[in-house]
Amino acid sequence: MKTENMEYEVYNYINGKREKNTGDSEFTVYNPAFGKRIATVYDTGNDEVDNTVDFAYSAFLKWSKIPITDRIKFLFRLENLMRENADELAKMVTIEHGKTFKESQGEVMRAIENVEAACSSTYNIMGRNSKNIAGGIDEELFRVPMGVFAAIAPFNFPIMVAFWFIPYAVGLGNTIIVKPSEKTPLTLQKTVDLFEQAGFPPGVISIVNGSVNTVNAILNNKKISGVSFVGSTGAARYIVSTAAANHKRAQAGASAKNYELVMPDADLDKVVPHLISSFYGNAGERCLAGSALVTLPENHKKLVEKFKMEAEKLKLGYGLDDKVSLGPLIRSEHKQRVLGYIDSGVSEGANLTLDGRKFSAGKYSAGYFLGPSIFDNADPDMKIVREEIFGPVASVVEAKNIDDAIEIINKSQYGNASTIFTKSGEYAEKYIEGVQAGNIGVNIGVAAPIAFYPFAGYKDSFFGDLHAQGGPDHVMFYTDSKVVIKRW
Ligand code: NAD
Repeated sequence: MKTENMEYEVYNYINGKREKNTGDSEFTVYNPAFGKRIATVYDTGNDEVDNTVDFAYSAFLKWSKIPITDRIKFLFRLENLMRENADELAKMVTIEHGKTFKESQGEVMRAIENVEAACSSTYNIMGRNSKNIAGGIDEELFRVPMGVFAAIAPFNFPIMVAFWFIPYAVGLGNTIIVKPSEKTPLTLQKTVDLFEQAGFPPGVISIVNGSVNTVNAILNNKKISGVSFVGSTGAARYIVSTAAANHKRAQAGASAKNYELVMPDADLDKVVPHLISSFYGNAGERCLAGSALVTLPENHKKLVEKFKMEAEKLKLGYGLDDKVSLGPLIRSEHKQRVLGYIDSGVSEGANLTLDGRKFSAGKYSAGYFLGPSIFDNADPDMKIVREEIFGPVASVVEAKNIDDAIEIINKSQYGNASTIFTKSGEYAEKYIEGVQAGNIGVNIGVAAPIAFYPFAGYKDSFFGDLHAQGGPDHVMFYTDSKVVIKRW
């Protein structure tokens, strides 16, 4: 049987065992390129989540005692196994999410990169000390693991986001429970074999499936020390405030609206391919996707023409077909939502110069496909410019000059990423200093930090204090301070 038509099993992974659960609510997993059901997910209820946490806490008591130099060896093995199985993992990402195989391979590499980065935990966990800080007194600070952490992931990166958290949490001596998106739970199921082959003891890494009820069971469990969330702003706000009320650490990467400014000195032949991959890669379902394109009067017309010409070449279809460059949206309802934004742009008076609704996915007509759209002459106050669309729709706004552009960009409620294309260091520095976004690109279409740097969203794109999605903050998030004051 062809993989795209297979039915997949979804199980929880608790205390080293694969367990089927049958909660009250159920959710269908689709292959979005075919509009076909491929699996069913059930909510994991309170009791099962509590049991999972108990096992994970018992595992923590032993795991945290293993010297960090030995714990890291599990991560080295995992990294190698993920590399060996990278294409298998990527294939699963395409099947359940729809992105092209190349995009899925990129996602898997980003996951692996985080395992590599977490291998430096041996160094990162080092504390501080002061000799003779007061007469005959020495003082030391250790970073110590805390217990059980949880991670709640979105649908759009079925493997990468979970790996923003798993390797750091366990490398530093904690155990972790992951709840994948109920829309894309299958790739993480494949990693279970790799956790086992790497030799992780039962309970160190667990998976519970489900949706809101399962998240609430996690938030209400008293033994969980901290929660990392990635998803939409509404859910992020709720999760961080509930976690804090329940005495947990929390961090949440949230929704986005990313602006990309092209200055007149930029070379359009180089810029436009970056714009195409930023605005339409992952079908626009990327929290770092370009969504509003800001031009200046000197380059507006030429840029829109060239952008449109290249966007028209995108080929819709199943991501495992190597000629395809634009995959489907995740669900039919999500496609309807994006179509609603196209209607709204038209009724607000923007000029729909490229209409994605007219594209065909050929033999994949049952899939949730939508071609690339471009709205020209969009106004900064229109819904299509202000709100996250999460689909292949670009809105072009013409600014008067760079200062005006920065002012337009900073009106956004979000601050995940923003990019400037220019050859001028002066413009770039002005942009870096002036734009209120956590990840700034200079001639980079998708300003995605490498694992050694934090993913630094601002405003309604991030909730919490520490940006522990990679980067140095993970040590602060996943460990606590223990201070020892000594006199002999
Ligand atoms: P979502 O908020 O619908 O779901 C994310 C996770 O939260 C899922 O596991 C889901 O089961 C759970 N969830 C959803 N609603 C909940 C609620 N009310 N209470 C408790 N749990 C809830 O997000 P999504 O549609 O899966 O992902 C897309 C969103 O994620 C976009 O807004 C995108 O910008 C954002 N995102 C942000 C980043 C980032 O780093 N800032 C990265 C990727 C995606």
